[in-house]
Amino acid sequence: MIEYENLSGTNRSFLADYKKAFADVAKRGFYILGQAVNKFENAFADYCGVKNCIGVASGLDALIISLKIFRIKPGSEIIVPSNTYIATILSIIHCGLRPILIEPDIKTYNIDPEKIEDAVTSKTAAIMPVHLYGKMCDMDAIMEIAKRRKLKVIEDCAQAHGAEYKKKKAGAFGHCNAFSFYPTKNLGALGDAGAIVTNDPELAQQAKMFRNYGSRIKYYNEIIGYNSRLDELQAAFLSVKLKKLDEINNHKRKLAAIYLKKIKGDFIKPVVQNGYHDIYHIFNIRHPQRDKLKKYLMDQGIKTEIHYPVPPHKQKALHDLLGSKSYPISEAIHASTLSLPISYGHTQKDIYEVAEKINGFNQ
Ligand SMILES: *Cc1c(COP(=O)(O)O)cnc(C)c1O
Repeated sequence: MIEYENLSGTNRSFLADYKKAFADVAKRGFYILGQAVNKFENAFADYCGVKNCIGVASGLDALIISLKIFRIKPGSEIIVPSNTYIATILSIIHCGLRPILIEPDIKTYNIDPEKIEDAVTSKTAAIMPVHLYGKMCDMDAIMEIAKRRKLKVIEDCAQAHGAEYKKKKAGAFGHCNAFSFYPTKNLGALGDAGAIVTNDPELAQQAKMFRNYGSRIKYYNEIIGYNSRLDELQAAFLSVKLKKLDEINNHKRKLAAIYLKKIKGDFIKPVVQNGYHDIYHIFNIRHPQRDKLKKYLMDQGIKTEIHYPVPPHKQKALHDLLGSKSYPISEAIHASTLSLPISYGHTQKDIYEVAEKINGFNQ
């Protein structure tokens, strides 16, 4: 059986360092916002090529706090891709703002800059590009529109740790950008965790207050904050893994190269473009007989996933807000996409086997 993902296998090679990191934190006896968080924040900011990193409790919180710090007028419009993971849209709703869904480019699965321009109104306050599956959005085009129309940009980098666009990393473009370290992400913790990155020292200060009860000095509360702190243990584990992030990404890129070369026939594969360094958080193919293909692979001992089976506007939770809308490109992607095994725990041999089985699919 080839698993879709085996997190224990992915983390096995880090176990000795995790144990040491655990012992260091446990012995220090200081578990919230101490030196482990500080160390990880500095290292991750350096890695992304930004000035500040603020560790928070999850990717969703990183998105919510990123929006909160701009003090956007309630009811303002935020542009977001229609095929994102629901978290991006939820962050907008939790902040009392209106999500405006824009269809992706069917080739890249990322937000289509041309459609952003058409969607901007006098109420638009920000754009939230999502670097889906580990491939960055066309950031030059997005930043150009944002500058001209005076909009904030919040990158959702939850699937793009170390992905690059024109040699610059995800998180280094927008005004304030969000990462998730959910265990399955390329840089995954051993539990929930997230971070905000920004070059703006004032936004960084605000984010630090929001994550910690609105306080700069203990027991003095300046704003209505949250409790959304990255904890010392997760930060210590993340520092261990961050040192190997490029190795993890390169491993996944090698596996992706095998799929790209070996899979033949009428499967639509991810595009590879000049100037983009993709890190394949997810490697998806598309096929009109997706469900049949998924079952066939399962029968052959290969587990796959679907990211995602239901588009956000068709989710029950968003029915009242978006239920009447139609997003045909997003719907076409959701109906045909299949995510193949691609993790640090998979070998090249595994991937050759998956590719071979896919090529043997008779519809
Ligand atoms: C994982 C993910 C999130 C949310 O991260 P959590 O840490 O689970 O809150 C947000 N956006 C995208 C695109 C994601 O993939």
